[in-house]
Order: sequence, then C-alpha cells, then structure tokens
Amino acid sequence: MKKILIVEDERAIAELEKDYLELSSFEVTIVEDGIKGEKAAMTGEYDLLILDVMLPGKDGFEICRKFREKYLMPVIMVSAKKEDIDKIRGLGLGADDYMTKPFSPSELVARVKAHLNRYDVLTRQPRPQEKNNEVIRGGDLEIDRTARRVFVQGEEKTFTSKEFDLLYFLAKNPNHVFSKEELFHRIWGFNTMGDIATVTVHIKKIREKIERDTSNPEYIETIWGVGYRFKMPE
Ligand code: CA
Repeated sequence: MKKILIVEDERAIAELEKDYLELSSFEVTIVEDGIKGEKAAMTGEYDLLILDVMLPGKDGFEICRKFREKYLMPVIMVSAKKEDIDKIRGLGLGADDYMTKPFSPSELVARVKAHLNRYDVLTRQPRPQEKNNEVIRGGDLEIDRTARRVFVQGEEKTFTSKEFDLLYFLAKNPNHVFSKEELFHRIWGFNTMGDIATVTVHIKKIREKIERDTSNPEYIETIWGVGYRFKMPE
C-alpha cells in the first residue's frame, strides 16, 4: 500500500483529501504544521507528499526544497494563492505538480495516481550514475530531462520534441563545438531524410525561446564555419 503524507494546517481540507485517498486504498498521514511536516517528510517513508504552502512553523517552499535535496518522490504543492504557482516554478523547487485551492478531491486523487505511476516507471529504469543528470540548470535556464520541460526565468517554454532533444544534447555537452552535420546525425539519426538546414532552423527557434537577445546569444554560440557550442552561464 502506497503511503501518502499530507502537510496541511486546515483540518477540514486535510480530512477531505484523506477520505478520498483512502477510498483509493492509499495509506494517509496528516501533519498540521511545517516543522513536524518536514520531519515526517524527511524520514523518506512516504511515496508522495501533498504539501500546503502556507503552514505554521515552516512554509511548504522550504520543506519542498529540503526534501528535494535528498529524495525524488513526487511532491504536489497546494496553495490558496494563485501567485504561489509562479513562485513554485520560479524557485525551481522541484515540485512535480501544484494545485490551487479549492480543487476537487477526485482531481487530486487522479494526479496522485498519475505521479505515482510516473515515479514507478522512472525508478524502474536503469538510472544514470548521477541523479543530478535529470535536471540541467544554469543562468536563467532549467532543463528538466525527466519531464521534458524547459523553464526560462521560471517560466515554462514550449518545445517540440526535436528542439528539446537538440537543446538537451547541447546543454549536456557544454563547451564542446558540434558541427551541424554531427548534430543532425545525433538528433535526427543517420537514416533520416532531411538536411543540415534543419539544424539551423531548430537552433533559431531554440534561441528565440531561451536567449534574451538572439543576436547576441548567451547559451548557444555560433562558431563560424564550424557549428555551435553551448555555454552555461554561472
Ligand atoms: Ca495553509
């Protein structure tokens, strides 16, 4: 039976969430303040956290950050304030999801199940050596490989599959110059029809999403006559 920790100071909300989750056969523990909530979360005993933002003692942001330093289990943050959602993203806390109160308990249950499934699949796969490989961060940029999402200054940008693959590949190999041919073969494969102009077009689109000034790119430099080089700002 999967164990869920709810850190929520509004008893009525916590109880409602608990009832719904128990109907779906989860084992649920409620903790009503931030300090005890953090302590419970940091035992690592729970499969998923539902974390309120405004809590007595210690807020949900801090708990999430601390928890993420050590664990990869899913975290769903909930808040009554819409602005908190931008903050959760902007701070790069590593929360997997966020919901604004009031929300329907059945929606919460659906998301809990989805995140637990995703996590199960993720942990079943052979892992890269470092857990840190899942997310690449630097400057204003955050590339979440697991979720295939890209954030610039905390704001999510929409990437096509190939744009994502190309950016991730470059970012994973910083300070290395790749020719357009090489990038084309790596991302599109040797057997793909197409030409290296595709790479130029994709680089342009990526720059429009991640660079402050596309004529003076910070991340993806053009090395004339050779190709491109990714540089991660400090
Ligand atoms: Ca609260």
